[in-house]
Amino acid sequence: MQKLHILIFVFVCTFFSQAQDIYLQCGKVIDTKTGKVLTEKTIVVSGNKISKIQDGYTTGKKDDTTIDLKNKTVMPGLIDMHVHIEGETNPKAYLKRYTDNEADLAFDAVGFAKISLMAGFTTVRDLGGSGVNIALRKAIAQGKIVGPRVFTAGKILSTTGGHGDPTNGGKKSLIGDPGPKEGVVNSVEDARKAVRQRYKNGADLIKITATGGVLSVAKSGSNPQFTIEEIKAICETAKDYGFHVAAHAHGDEGMRRAVLGGVKTIEHGTLMSEKTMDLMKQHDAYLVPTITAGKEVTEKARIDGYYPAIIVPKALDIGPKIQNTFKKAYERGVGIAFGTDAGVFKHGQNGKEFGFMVEAGMPAIEAIQSATTTNAKILNMENELGQITAGFLADIVAVNDDPTQKIDTMENIVFVMKEGKIYKQ
Ligand SMILES: [Zn+2]
Repeated sequence: MQKLHILIFVFVCTFFSQAQDIYLQCGKVIDTKTGKVLTEKTIVVSGNKISKIQDGYTTGKKDDTTIDLKNKTVMPGLIDMHVHIEGETNPKAYLKRYTDNEADLAFDAVGFAKISLMAGFTTVRDLGGSGVNIALRKAIAQGKIVGPRVFTAGKILSTTGGHGDPTNGGKKSLIGDPGPKEGVVNSVEDARKAVRQRYKNGADLIKITATGGVLSVAKSGSNPQFTIEEIKAICETAKDYGFHVAAHAHGDEGMRRAVLGGVKTIEHGTLMSEKTMDLMKQHDAYLVPTITAGKEVTEKARIDGYYPAIIVPKALDIGPKIQNTFKKAYERGVGIAFGTDAGVFKHGQNGKEFGFMVEAGMPAIEAIQSATTTNAKILNMENELGQITAGFLADIVAVNDDPTQKIDTMENIVFVMKEGKIYKQ
């Protein structure tokens, strides 16, 4: 009996010490740190991390796995800083708010999460939903479902009638008067409580709607909707909990207040003045362009009945301007954090954004860096994500062509690894 125990012990030790390594033989590798495209490298993955990068094509021991990516271009897993993982555009979306329960949203979200990962986005920053997003993050982290690593704002913070007021456009008897718990704030006190409530609920960061927005059932798409004191209170309280703050903003005054108030990222930034661009540079704030969403809402607004009537003029006014604002901000030196607003268009098409950024004048390599090293830094994950470097988490994706030559290859991700596990090959 004693012998058998020893035998089993030895077997178990041997089994674990000889965990398989994965050797990825890569024709091209994008070095996001230097902005160079390297050729003929082998990335060695041990467990959930990259253990080394070797010159040429190497293989490991008998038990190790070798994967041939010799005719592919390999890069770090992509990070999208603006998605809404719980939902997706469709003409009935406005009705669903009054018919669907959280469980219904959760089943949809499981599908969206998987699609996002398969499109090469191994990490996403979710900028607002019902709270299902927090449960989704946990389920993915625990390996119960397949999806990207999620950093989520939980529920958006807004003011009464503002872009993130969940009851806009509803019948009086159904809507009540939501307060800070539900994410609606109207004072400095409310602002602090709302941030603390997000912490209690399990959010990772804070999202505010600094101005009106296109898809809310309300008249203005660009008016300022918070006082600067409220924004300051949100940002200061958020800091106490290690949160950064993202601000949805189309109008210039609202985004000016947001930047002065201390937000880290401006989402969309549609009507940004040169003065505000300079302010962003001074305050080390980043623009998250969401060009794909701008194009999508413009297109959908032309389909009769797709959106409620109050939304159509806003979509046709704001949607077409987003790409040009991105161009101007980029040229003026504003930091750019890749983000798409997926959910406003179909999940999984996030890679289109690269083409739109390049079309507006950003070199492909910089667009890829904005989706890797820049975004990792904003998420305080710059020592774990965004680079193919020894010691970093093994989030690795591949495309058929070299994106610095052919950017639309980013819409067709052919290999996906997250934390050393292969999801697509
Ligand atoms: Zn959004």
